[in-house]
Parts: sequence; structure tokens; C-alpha cells
Amino acid sequence: RAIVRDIDMLEEKNPSIKPKPTTEVDPTVFEKRFLKTIMELGKGHFGRVDLCRYDPRGDRTGELVAVKSLKPETCEEKSNNLSREIDILKALYHENIVKYKGICGQAIKLIMEFLPLGSLTEYLPKNKNKTSLSTLLSYSIQICEGMDYLGSRNYIHRDLAARNVLLENDHVVKIGDFGLTKSIKDNEGYYIVRDDDVSPVFWYAPECLTHCKFYLASDVWSFGVTMYEILTYCEKNPVSCFKEMIGKTQGQMVVLRLVQLLKDGKRLPRPEGCPEPVRMNYSLFSHHKHGFTSTRSLFFNHLSYRTY
Ligand code: ADP
Ligand code: MG
Repeated sequence: RAIVRDIDMLEEKNPSIKPKPTTEVDPTVFEKRFLKTIMELGKGHFGRVDLCRYDPRGDRTGELVAVKSLKPETCEEKSNNLSREIDILKALYHENIVKYKGICGQAIKLIMEFLPLGSLTEYLPKNKNKTSLSTLLSYSIQICEGMDYLGSRNYIHRDLAARNVLLENDHVVKIGDFGLTKSIKDNEGYYIVRDDDVSPVFWYAPECLTHCKFYLASDVWSFGVTMYEILTYCEKNPVSCFKEMIGKTQGQMVVLRLVQLLKDGKRLPRPEGCPEPVRMNYSLFSHHKHGFTSTRSLFFNHLSYRTY
């Protein structure tokens, strides 16, 4: 008590030593002036993702972050989409989902953790030699874990594809790109999409193509297509593969032909090196009657029965 009184007296005599009240800072608000763009990581239809350094001290010791922003000419509707994506990602906490870090600026930007190895599409073709089948299957299970969590929060991803699965390191993957994600909380288990101008149709289940209806299970179909990509080390592209199957055609006809092809029971071929039991499970996914929980348990059963 006496010491405290002494300090108080000292402070009274020397106002300069009095501690200043610290202004509280929100660590999720990034200041634009400290955000330095290093390079572009990817470009989509409406936006782009850049690698930036957030460097408040200005000495290049600041952390690296991935920043998603819209192209300058984008309309209001699309900028609402990015705001929605931010609100969704902000509330997701899972080891297989990319981490939200914050926002920046008036023309809103989404700040995420930077994953230096990029997406499976970039990583797998370059790292074929060191990536075994069991690693590929482990990636697939991790995607199931992340999707399972997403579904438990009543979200449909709607853009599950190898290009949207990022690597934390050689062993851990994370789902990214929640740009098309929808909540089914207030709906009857599905979401009807109206603007489908840029849909990744070759990853879509029949009900999405015919009725624009998206269920949690529709993501399981996309997971099947994603597994095709993974098991081919992203060297085969579902787009060109399906296009080859439907033959030369354009515009709306592409979707109509695709629907017919799927109705006829045609599917992407078994990737080379994909064991028959995995293909069996994989074709079960493409019937997508199972949610992710059972998809994952199918996987676990399979893996415990035989280790690759
Ligand atoms: P879009 O909506 O334009 O598809 P994405 O979120 O999928 O945007 O990002 C586009 C690309 O940028 C990804 O395919 C990936 O290659 C790269 N990318 C995105 N987020 C990250 C990240 N956090 N770390 C590293 N690369 C990323
Ligand atoms: Mg993407």
C-alpha cells in the first residue's frame, strides 16, 4: 500500500512518467496504409487474391497474409457477396478450413492466413513423386472433416473443387473460397440459386443442374469430382473430361447434355492408380445419398481395412 502511495506521489510530481491509457485496437481491423501487395495469388470472375505483407512498422518484419478483394469495376451486388463471404468465414473455426484474420478498408477486403503451398491444383502436379496414395486419401478425409463441420453449421459450400482446397503443409489441407456458400438454416434443407451465370457446372449434382436446388448432399457430389481431381494429381481436368464425353456443343446445350449423360449413369472414369475399393466408395458418393459423416466413416472403414 505504501509503495502504491509513493508511486502516486511520484507521478503527481512528474506527470511525464504517468502511464498513458492505451487505445484499444481491434486485431481484426487491418489498416490499408500498412498493407503492401507482394504478388497476385489467384484471380476469379469478380475478385482476386493477393499475397500481402501487413507491415505497421514499415521494416518488412510484418506478417504475410492473403487478401481477397473485388475488381474495381464490380457492381454492388458482388461486393455484397464478398461481405457475406466475410461474415461466413469469420464464424468458422476448424483445422481444415482456412483461417479468417480480418478485414481492411472501405472497399472491403478479406484478410486470411497465407498458405504458401497454394491449392491442390498447383501443388499436386508438381509434387507427384513425394505424394503417396495414402496422403491423397488423407487429404480426402480432411476435406470430409471440414465439410462435415460446414454442414453442421448449415452451410452448403457450392464450390468444392481442388482449386479451392489449400495446403497448410505437405500433410494438412484446408477448404477455402466461401464465395458461393449459402446458408440453408431458413430453408427446407435446400437453397435455390437464381444467378447461376458462373456456376462450376461440371462439379454439380443433377438436382443443381436441373432445378438449381442445392442440398448439403449436393456438396458430396462435388466432393466425388474433387476426389477425381485429387486421385489424378490434378493432371486430368473434369471439365475437359466431361466435354470429351458430351462432344462438341456450346452454351445452354452443354448443361443439357451433361444432365443427360449423368442420367444415363455415365461418370468420370476411375483414375489410374485408384484402387477398386476406393472407386466403389467414390461411386457411392456420386449417388450422394450419404452426408459427409457417413462419407467419412466409409473412408475410415476402408482405410482401417487396408492401409495404403
Ligand atoms: P475465387 O473466388 O476468385 O476463386 P479463391 O478464394 O478461390 O477466389 O482464391 C483464388 C486462388 O488464390 C486460389 O485458387 C488459390 O490458388 C489462391 N489462394 C486463395 N486463398 C489463399 C490463401 N489463403 N493462401 C494462399 N493462396 C490462396
Ligand atoms: Mg476459387
